[in-house]
Amino acid sequence: MKYISTRGQAPELTFEEAMLTGLARDGGLYVPSEIPKMGHDEIAALSGLPYEDVAFRVMWPYVSDSFSEDEFKQIIARAYAGFEHAARAPLKQLSANHYLLELFHGPTLAFKDFAMQLIGQLFQVALKRRNESVTIVGATSGDTGSAAIEAFRGLDAVNVFVLYPHGRVSEVQRRQMTTPQDNNVHALAVDGDFDDCQARVKDMFNDFDFRDEVKLAGVNSINFARVLAQVVYYFTSAVSLGAPHRKVSFTVPTGNFGDIFAGFIAKKMGLPIDELVVATNQNDILHRCLSGQGYFKGETKPSISPSMDIQVSSNFERALFYAYGQEGAPVAALMEELKEGGFNVSQGAMQALSETYISGRCSEDETLATIKSELSTSGELLCPHGAVGVKVANEHIKPDVPMVTLATAHPAKFPAAVEKAADVHPPLPPRMSDLYDRPERVTRIDNDLAVLEDHIRKTRAN
Ligand SMILES: *Cc1c(COP(=O)(O)O)cnc(C)c1O
Repeated sequence: MKYISTRGQAPELTFEEAMLTGLARDGGLYVPSEIPKMGHDEIAALSGLPYEDVAFRVMWPYVSDSFSEDEFKQIIARAYAGFEHAARAPLKQLSANHYLLELFHGPTLAFKDFAMQLIGQLFQVALKRRNESVTIVGATSGDTGSAAIEAFRGLDAVNVFVLYPHGRVSEVQRRQMTTPQDNNVHALAVDGDFDDCQARVKDMFNDFDFRDEVKLAGVNSINFARVLAQVVYYFTSAVSLGAPHRKVSFTVPTGNFGDIFAGFIAKKMGLPIDELVVATNQNDILHRCLSGQGYFKGETKPSISPSMDIQVSSNFERALFYAYGQEGAPVAALMEELKEGGFNVSQGAMQALSETYISGRCSEDETLATIKSELSTSGELLCPHGAVGVKVANEHIKPDVPMVTLATAHPAKFPAAVEKAADVHPPLPPRMSDLYDRPERVTRIDNDLAVLEDHIRKTRAN
C-alpha cells in the first residue's frame, strides 16, 4: 500500500515512512492511495472476535508492507493490554435505538489512547529496526498530549514535546501531561490557544532545517496511523449491532475531524454505515461548512468541551481531498485561501460532502442540560464531549437504524463541567486516584516559533 499526499506534490511513501513523517513535505496529509475493501462475509466473520483480532483484520492491509504478521499482532496486543475493560470499547444502551460507545477505558481516559498506544508500539518497533531516534512534537487541546506522553514515556528512541494552551485544559488533563517523570517526555504550556499550538507545530514541520536536525515526527491526528487505529471500533460496534446484515449510524463529537474521518474510511471499506453525524460545540466551523456556509475561521471560544475547541480542523483536509475526487491541486488551492481566512466549497464537492456527512451543533447550555437529562433517564454520566454527541445524535435517530454515539472521554476528566451540570462528582478510577498528589513538571513558553525550536533543541535528552 502506497501513501499519497492530499496536496499531490510530495513523494509517495510506505506506511512506515508516512507514519514516521507525519505531515507531508508539500504541507498535505498522507492518505492511502486506495482504500481496501472488506466483503460482506469478511465483516460477518468479525462477529464475536476479541477486539485485538478485529484490529488485526481491519488494519493489516494498510501496514503489511512495513511489519510482519507476527510483529503486528504483538504490537496490537501490547497496545491494548493496559485498557481496563476486556471489550476495550464496550457499548452501552441509552434508549431504544441509541447506544454509547465507551472509548475511555484506556490509560488516560479518552479515545486518543486507542490510537496513541498503538502508535507508541509501532514507532518503537520501526525505530529499533532502523536504529534511529526521533523528536515527536504535538499540539494538544488536552487529550492528545496526555495520551502521547503516556504512550511514549520511557521509550529511549523517542523524545516527546507536547504544546498545550496555557490555562485552557482541565486540571486532570494538565496533570496527566505534567506528572510523568520520565525524562524523554516534556509538557510545554504555550501562551496562546490550541490553534496557536497547532500552527506552531505546522511551522516546525515546514522549517525543513529544524525538521531534519531534530528528526521531527508527528503524532497529531494528521498522522494516518492514528486515523487507522480508530477505524477498528467502528467495525467492532457496528458488527455487535448486526452489521453487515444491518445498517448502523454514528454520531461523533468532533474537533480535528480525525475520529469521524476514521468512520468515513470504515464506510469506504464496506461497513454499512448509514449516517455519519459530525457533532460540534459552539466552535462550529465544521457545522457551518457542512451546512453550506463555507469554511471561514472565527475566534476560538473556550468551552466546557475543550478538546473540541478549534477553528481549523486539520483532518478536514482529508475529507476535502475525497470530496474533490482525490485531486491534490484544488485542495492545495483551498489551503492557500484558508491562510487568508477561509474558502467556499465547490458545488460538486459540497454534494459529495453532504452525501457522506451530516452535522449538528450543541451550545454550552445544551451540553449541561444533556449531561443532566441523560443521568436521570439512562443513569449514564456523560463527559461534556459525549454530551455534545448525544444531543446532536438525538436529532438524527431514525426508527429502523441503530445510532451509536462515541463517548470520547471519561466524565472524571472534566469534573467541573459534570458537577455544574448534574451536581455529582465523577471520581477518578482507582488506578489514578493519587493524580492530584503527584508532583508536576512543566515549562511555560511563548507562542513564538524561534523560542520553541530553541527550547526543543536544547532539551532533547539524546
Ligand atoms: C480529541 C477529542 C475529540 C475530537 O476528536 P477529533 O478526532 O479531533 O475530531 C472529542 N472528544 C474528546 C474527549 C477528545 O479528546
